[in-house]
Amino acid sequence: MPRMTRITDTLYCVDVTPPELGVPFICSYIVVSRGEAAVIETGPTSSTEILVEALNQLGAEVKAVIPTHIHLDHGGGVGSLLKHLESAKAYVHPRAVKHLADPAKLWAAARYALGWLAEVYQAPEPAPRERLVAAEDGAKIRVGDMELRIVHTPGHASHHQSILMEDGTLFVGDSAGIYIARENYVIPTTMPVIRLDLYLESLEKQIALNPSRIAYTHYGVAENGVGVLRRHRIQVDAWVRGVREALEAGEESNEAILGRIARYDPEAEKLKGIVGKSRAYEILVRLSVEGLVMEVRRQMQG
Ligand SMILES: [Zn+2]
Repeated sequence: MPRMTRITDTLYCVDVTPPELGVPFICSYIVVSRGEAAVIETGPTSSTEILVEALNQLGAEVKAVIPTHIHLDHGGGVGSLLKHLESAKAYVHPRAVKHLADPAKLWAAARYALGWLAEVYQAPEPAPRERLVAAEDGAKIRVGDMELRIVHTPGHASHHQSILMEDGTLFVGDSAGIYIARENYVIPTTMPVIRLDLYLESLEKQIALNPSRIAYTHYGVAENGVGVLRRHRIQVDAWVRGVREALEAGEESNEAILGRIARYDPEAEKLKGIVGKSRAYEILVRLSVEGLVMEVRRQMQG
């Protein structure tokens, strides 16, 4: 039985986390309205069956598959999911189209960046080109009575998009951090190759949309949407400040950098408890620091 949570009458979260990760980590959202459905985030190839089972249980006709970006944990399953859906199209960032149609490069990059985790997610299957729609910024997709709007939010990746639902729910993918509900903490999603300027611009763009609720792929829903985004915006500045100070002091170890970060983001103390829970968290925190180190170095040299 798929682990499916009903969030509202029109919104469900299916936990598509591979069991190897040990913690609920990837939420695939299903929007249902008047017998039609949209899938926001497919999760990885290895989770396709769970997702299909959940969709069968809901019984709605899937019209749209909308990954926020093509990293394996978000859009890795697009090709394999489309095989199970008759009339759905995938709405993706224009820069993502070619990589979904031919995922060889994407898979090679993922194996390099993620190692064992890429094997857990499994290789993406190619998606038929004619079923991929290049979604421009502001594009609208109708599912039953519900309208979904595409909002381009580059930074974490150049091909990242967010989705705003008519009821004020904003699906942020990896553009606004990883939400750890139990700790009420957000881990920045600033992994290499982050474009920090674009990441911050995208956060401002999202704040301006005034979302009532943030639906995080990692993981779950936070009410007070604008509030959590504003807090994250401030937090990223704090992390950058900590990284810069560490580098200026010649401290390069992950531990030392995190120590400096905690001076400006006091809640970063919570990370100690968080990384102990899953190897995935540990990898992500290390990568998010690494991305900022690269950015700050670049700024210091420039
Ligand atoms: Zn992710």
